[in-house]
Amino acid sequence: MVTSVQISSRPNKAKEVIAPSRIAVPQQDLSDELFRLTQRLQTSLELEQVLEIFFQQLQQHVNIGGMVYTSPCKQHIKLGRPNIHHVDYQLSRQTAEGDDGLGSIVFSRAKRFAEHELILIESFLGPLIYPLRNSLLYRQALAAAMCDPLTQTGNRAAMSNALQREIQLANRYQQALSMMVIDIDHFKSVNDNYGHAAGDDVICNVAKAITTVCRETDLTFRFGGEEFVVLLNKTDAAGARVIAERVRRHIASLNTQSDQHAISVTASIGTAELNQDDNGESLFERADSALYKAKQQGRNQVVSYDLMDNVQHSLLEM
Ligand code: GH3
Ligand code: MG
Ligand code: MG
Repeated sequence: MVTSVQISSRPNKAKEVIAPSRIAVPQQDLSDELFRLTQRLQTSLELEQVLEIFFQQLQQHVNIGGMVYTSPCKQHIKLGRPNIHHVDYQLSRQTAEGDDGLGSIVFSRAKRFAEHELILIESFLGPLIYPLRNSLLYRQALAAAMCDPLTQTGNRAAMSNALQREIQLANRYQQALSMMVIDIDHFKSVNDNYGHAAGDDVICNVAKAITTVCRETDLTFRFGGEEFVVLLNKTDAAGARVIAERVRRHIASLNTQSDQHAISVTASIGTAELNQDDNGESLFERADSALYKAKQQGRNQVVSYDLMDNVQHSLLEM
């Protein structure tokens, strides 16, 4: 397995391979330093921390103003202060299967980089490759643990993290927060009539319908089998009901193709707005009790817990 650091740099236009004989630091000192760097980089799997360790250690040898790492999925991590002269590195690892892109790093400062400094930077990049790859894999594993594999929405664990965070933000910035609980109506009969695989397709299409109708900032989770929770930040009870009604209509208009059949389903939705004394559980309980009411009242409708007195009866055009 060969590890390569591919370089394309501007404005210094360096294109270098690590060449120990040209490094302007005594070879033994450099080897010791790279060994220490390797050891320190192994102390964390957190991407930010690994990059911080790398940057700090490199700065002791090369005067660098700022460093920006861009991950393969285009996330930027910035350290120090960017400046006008920069040198860019594409990081990749060549494996038997092909090129394993590990993102890119841009180093910058006010003064041009000298040749010997570039060589030093490149010799530091070598020990970064594997810790960086491990951090990226760790990140992927964490994301997968929070993701529902069928619908690619967040799972229950992700929901409980997000709920806590959203409640904190809403309280801190005095902003509204609402929750929608969505449950597909008579879903058992979809499985019974068309099979479990067709049922899975319906669940996927419903998830897509929800994320299509909601804003990008809204957070959608698959809470259970055919049940979804959406967190609507900066949205009060009236706003939540409008969005829920839009979601309900969109779900009712879907057709999921299965063999010779087009399967259509409806959903019931309960909504609730966060109040001052709420925690995640109490907010969910209210939205869920509104959902229960929607089911009781005949399904395919939205009930807002906060607007219970003038409950909407929207059994509709199905
Ligand atoms: P209601 O209108 O009261 O919600 O009725 P329902 O039939 O939707 O509710 P119920 O809770 O009785 O049934 C839910 C069904 O969802 C039963 C279960 O087999 C099915 N289900 C749960 N998870 C999955 C899944 O991942 N895929 C499929 N295809 N079906 C699932
Ligand atoms: Mg159901
Ligand atoms: Mg259910």
